[in-house]
Amino acid sequence: MPQKTSDTPMMQQYNAIKAQYPDAFLFYRIGDFYELFNDDAIKGAQLLELTLTARNKSADDPIPMAGVPHHAVQSYVDILIDHGYKVAICEQMEDPKKAVGMVKRAVIQLITPGTNVDIKAGAAKTNNYITAVLPHAGGYAFAYGDVSTGELKVTDLKSKFALQNELSALATKEIVVPEDLTDDDAAMLKKGERLLSVQPESKPTSEGSYVSQDLNDPAEAAVVQMLMAYLLNTQKRSLAHIQKAVAYQPSAYLEMDQDARSNLDILQNSRTGRKGDTLLSLLDATKTAMGGRLLKQWLERPLLDIGAISVRQNQVQDLLDHFFERSELQERLTKVYDLERLAGRVAFGTVNGRDLIQLQTSLDQVPAIQDVLSKLDDGSFKALRGKIDPVSDVASLIRRAIEPEPPISVTDGGLILRGYNKKLDEYRDAMKHSKQWIAELEASERQATGIHNLKIRYNKVFGYFIEVTKSNLDKIPEGRYERKQTLTNAERFITPELKEKETLILEAQESSTALEYDLFQDIRDQVKSQIKRLQVLAAQISALDVLQSFATVAENNHYVRPTMHAGTHDINIKGGRHPVVEHVLGQDSYIPNDVIMDQDADMLLITGPNMSGKSTYMRQLALIVIMAQAGSFVPADAADLPIFDQIFTRIGAADDLANGESTFMVEMLEANAALSHATASSLILFDEIGRGTATYDGMALAQAIIEYLHDHVHAKTLFSTHYHELTSLSDSLAKLKNVHVGAVEEHGNLVFLHKMMPGPADKSYGIHVAKLAGLPADLLSRADAILKHLEAATPEKTVPAAASQVKDQQLSLFEEPKPQPKNSPILAKLAKFDLMDATPMDAMNLIFDLQKRL
Ligand code: ADP
Repeated sequence: MPQKTSDTPMMQQYNAIKAQYPDAFLFYRIGDFYELFNDDAIKGAQLLELTLTARNKSADDPIPMAGVPHHAVQSYVDILIDHGYKVAICEQMEDPKKAVGMVKRAVIQLITPGTNVDIKAGAAKTNNYITAVLPHAGGYAFAYGDVSTGELKVTDLKSKFALQNELSALATKEIVVPEDLTDDDAAMLKKGERLLSVQPESKPTSEGSYVSQDLNDPAEAAVVQMLMAYLLNTQKRSLAHIQKAVAYQPSAYLEMDQDARSNLDILQNSRTGRKGDTLLSLLDATKTAMGGRLLKQWLERPLLDIGAISVRQNQVQDLLDHFFERSELQERLTKVYDLERLAGRVAFGTVNGRDLIQLQTSLDQVPAIQDVLSKLDDGSFKALRGKIDPVSDVASLIRRAIEPEPPISVTDGGLILRGYNKKLDEYRDAMKHSKQWIAELEASERQATGIHNLKIRYNKVFGYFIEVTKSNLDKIPEGRYERKQTLTNAERFITPELKEKETLILEAQESSTALEYDLFQDIRDQVKSQIKRLQVLAAQISALDVLQSFATVAENNHYVRPTMHAGTHDINIKGGRHPVVEHVLGQDSYIPNDVIMDQDADMLLITGPNMSGKSTYMRQLALIVIMAQAGSFVPADAADLPIFDQIFTRIGAADDLANGESTFMVEMLEANAALSHATASSLILFDEIGRGTATYDGMALAQAIIEYLHDHVHAKTLFSTHYHELTSLSDSLAKLKNVHVGAVEEHGNLVFLHKMMPGPADKSYGIHVAKLAGLPADLLSRADAILKHLEAATPEKTVPAAASQVKDQQLSLFEEPKPQPKNSPILAKLAKFDLMDATPMDAMNLIFDLQKRL
């Protein structure tokens, strides 16, 4: 009976290892390939476009198999990670030639979406955060970290709402959770295709204890331990670069929920999908990847402390005032590589010679950066200058030790400089002398034999040999040459002395590469022992980079320094602009708008037709607030702002309506988040609330929401609506003010000015448009009459406080209608129309019908 394929020693070994990684693709190294078997092979072949074959094809039980070449493994791993899978890399742990029996194999790393440190081009300015959630009686202990940079933060969140906000802010792909997670919590955490990785309870690790040593809250320490245990289990290597966990409070920053973040296009533009149309891309003039990541963090967590904001503002102003110093700083920053991720690779042991040269080049910039700081005026810069540690010992170590243009490989030699190690130099000298001896041998043999084209050559199979062409064979000295190989035109010989030198050369070569690798590892360890200092420096340089970016963008886009005040919630923005829309349209095309909201104006009710600029105006305010609290200057002529604690938005695209009820549910959920969490210090933007349901239903809800916000929440609120009836709420709600978007008629077209004006919009605006469209005058005057009739009939019945009168600001754009002949069939039809029984749709149909008759 033949042995079953699955019973072979290799498959037994495979199965035993695979059993430990059931939820990962197991990349099982066999020679130059990583092989996948069974289900992994079937699924992997599909995802990675590999040929699916089988091990033991002719056996009764062939095993599905697919393989990838070892040198290209990273690209395949990346694809699987991008799909949200894990990959276990299983290596041969001994030289197969020397192994007795089965080659030993072991998983050396479990790569997961949240721990992937192979940073693809384009992702340099993005953190890859892995998070950990540990539910407890009072809420959720929550930690997040980036394995590539070593950042680690922790907090204790009191509610699901707060947890969801954090998860969305960090855009995490993987969450580490305990075994006893409830189904409810699991369902909530999984939202957004996040991978949940269970970390069974394990003994605290020494790394975990180190990073959590400054934490007072036991739940916070526990979640950090859990995360570290998971990282150690998966990475299976040094995590010396993971920094001590820093406790933080989300409420210490301006909080935005997920909807606010996406509605405001801070990091992503969900509507245009274009990367360039975001606040982040607009403000990003950073020169380093670290700076890019920090800018993102600053925009994600704007500050609440006026003092801290003004420190940043002073620094930006100082850099603005010193153009030349700023240029010098930028030039230096351009040469600074990603110190944080380099430090990570040093700890990981994946750093190579080129990385060290990048590290040295970066460190070489620091003294010049310190010089720039000493030329600036702001006190904080001067203080920073003294605080910066240029880590010059590491720079000079690398300068002394590493070739300026080293090879990628660290095991093949050629990367340690002459003069760094005596022994190495001796080996190299021995090689050099022997090679020289061989070169001289060629000359002397030519002379001795009289064969002018005699050559000494080298190949991998025979080593060094003497080559003599056929025609010269008769000149060969008797007995001294030993024949090695015959070619068509030549013969190859060796001599004992030649072989002796060859042995010397090869031995020296081998010892020297081995020594170089040892030396390199030693240098790497020396750098590793300085990781903490490198990380401090990285943080200082990143902050400088963000500040110079703020200054540069402020200068290029004519932003001003906002003044910030505590005590009142008054907003006073003169000539404010939406930074991204302005950027897209061009500075000359954007119409600036004021936002004036004092103690008597908690709420602006914005009316105006579609596409007139209502939501742009709302977003503009929120973006200015975020920029200001992040320390940036703002797009306005002048701005005086309070400190906001939270921003809530409901800004729906008009086409959301097409999606029907579920969209309305989303709308209500978003509204509810604001109603239940906002304070008097919050900012609320509600665009067309109530639009997703039947007219009266929607209008009633909109009004009730306005009243609730006005009476109970007192947050500064911008509320746009197309329910004209709501504008009369200003009669009953003291702190509600009407504003509208102005329009003018130009060459028979109604042109929106994108300019906010006091008072409600013209209620009969639709009729004006109909006039411009050329509808007959008698129809229009009839429509006017109908409108008046409707106004008189409906408001009291439906929305009690919405009075029918429209006060000022009627647009008198249109001339008086001419009288129409009495016998007009159009008028006859209109007269017959039973208005009281008609729906808005019937009215539309009527107008459509009449229009056809013209
Ligand atoms: P609404 O919310 O009233 O439907 P939007 O705010 O979406 O309108 O604005 C519609 C378009 O008008 C925007 O895409 C933009 O191109 C333009 N726009 C809005 N505000 C301004 C402005 N202040 N200056 C110039 N163009 C503007």
